[in-house]
Amino acid sequence: MRILVVEDNPDLRRQLADALSQSGYAVDLASDGEDGHFLGDTEPYDAVILDLGLPKMDGVTVLERWREDGRDFPVLILTARDRWSEKVAGFDAGADDYLTKPFITEELLARLRALLRRATGHSAAALECGVLRVDTRSARATVKGAPIKLTAHEYRVLSYLMHHQGRVVPRTELVEHIYDQDFDRDSNTIEVFIGRLRKKIGSERIQTERGLGYRLINPDADGHLG
Ligand code: CA
Repeated sequence: MRILVVEDNPDLRRQLADALSQSGYAVDLASDGEDGHFLGDTEPYDAVILDLGLPKMDGVTVLERWREDGRDFPVLILTARDRWSEKVAGFDAGADDYLTKPFITEELLARLRALLRRATGHSAAALECGVLRVDTRSARATVKGAPIKLTAHEYRVLSYLMHHQGRVVPRTELVEHIYDQDFDRDSNTIEVFIGRLRKKIGSERIQTERGLGYRLINPDADGHLG
C-alpha cells in the first residue's frame, strides 16, 4: 500500500514518514499544497494524509480539486486545534477522516488502517485468506499460525494482494502501489518477489494470469474462490 503525506512541518513530515515505512507502507512526501496536489493527481495512492494549513495551496482546495477530478482515494485530514470550521470545510471537500494536532502516531496509523480496509471492502484489521493471515497492525503474516519472515517489499506485495484478494492485480498496478516515487522501479523484480512469496506462503496461493497479472486465492476453500 502506498501513502502520500502532504505536510509542511518538516519534523512532523519526517516523523510520519518513519512511522509509515516502519508499518510496511511505501511513502511519498510533499511539503506544500501545489506539490501535494500534483502528486495526488498523477500517482495512484491507496490513501492520503493531508494537512489543511499548507503553503502555496491550502489543503481544502487541494482536496476539492482532487475530488472534482475524480480522485477517490481515502483522505485523512490533519487540522489545528480549535479550528472546528476547518474540519467542516475538510469533510465537505471530501475528507474521510480527520485528526486534530497534536495527535498520537498510533491513532493515526489505526485510522489509516481502517480507511484502507474500508476502501477495499474489509472489516477486520487482520486479513485472512484461508489459513494465510496478514495482520496489518503488526505488518506480519502467518500460515496456520506459524510466522512467515518477509522483507519489507515482500510484505507490501502480499499486503496489497491480500487487500485485493480474488481479483487479478496487473503487474504495473502492483509496481505502482509498492514503491515510493523515488524508488528505481523495475517491474521484473515483482516476479522475484512473487517467487519468494510463493516459497514462503505456498505456491498455490498466488496464481499467475498470463499477460494479466497475479491473483491471490484461497486454495483451502472449495472451488478455489478467495
Ligand atoms: Ca501546516
